[in-house]
Amino acid sequence: MDEETHPPGQPAAKTVECARCGTAAEGGTAPPTWLCAVEDGRRLHFCEGCARLHIRAIESRLDSLWW
Ligand SMILES: [Zn+2]
Repeated sequence: MDEETHPPGQPAAKTVECARCGTAAEGGTAPPTWLCAVEDGRRLHFCEGCARLHIRAIESRLDSLWW
């Protein structure tokens, strides 16, 4: 019972995972609670926990720009 069959019509490269902690999203799509950001043309996803940290990081960066 250890056959490795991939579901048809579901490319493995389409897996969405958190860009920070590497947590894979269930179903291959990012949940609404995840944060989606585009950096350098790449679409990055952050899980709910990392999204808060990421938002704070962005805010920190923005604040630093005013220095
Ligand atoms: Zn994460």
